[in-house]
Amino acid sequence: MNAGKSTAMLQVAHNYEEQGQAVRLFTAAIDHRYGVGKVTSRLGPQRETEVFDKDTNFLQTIDKKIACLLVDEAQFLSKDQVKQLHQLAQVRGVPVITYGLRSDFLGEPFPGSAYLLALADDIEEIKNICSCGKKATMNIRVDENGKRIKEGEQISIGGNESYRQACGRCFYSEIH
Ligand SMILES: [Zn+2]
Repeated sequence: MNAGKSTAMLQVAHNYEEQGQAVRLFTAAIDHRYGVGKVTSRLGPQRETEVFDKDTNFLQTIDKKIACLLVDEAQFLSKDQVKQLHQLAQVRGVPVITYGLRSDFLGEPFPGSAYLLALADDIEEIKNICSCGKKATMNIRVDENGKRIKEGEQISIGGNESYRQACGRCFYSEIH
């Protein structure tokens, strides 16, 4: 859904591993863009990852000391999972970096993102550009013909829709 963040995550993993440090990578089982358990950046590199679903307990899953835990598609985390990650970082001292979207195609927050934004020590923005040239902060869902979809479930599985990023002005524009 976001061209920059998977690339950023793979780069961080590479930086740790280059120093001989162990990382674990997760992505959402729900994300079928590129097949389950793969993080792909559109710039090229791809690697297999572990997946999380609603039953994953990160406090149990992360049972050995690692240098960093990286989670892609973090908007799909549950509230409880965000709190597990927070405890991993705060209590067990495991650095946790998550990558995700702030809001869905209706401009509503994902629960996972809302809790991440509430609890994270640091928040960094990965900047993307709208087709009009402004900074993109919103997500638009489009059908297979590129026509905007303005209603539906927050998480759509198995459809042909895709997403593109837009600035707030274009998000609220009737032209789009
Ligand atoms: Zn725009």
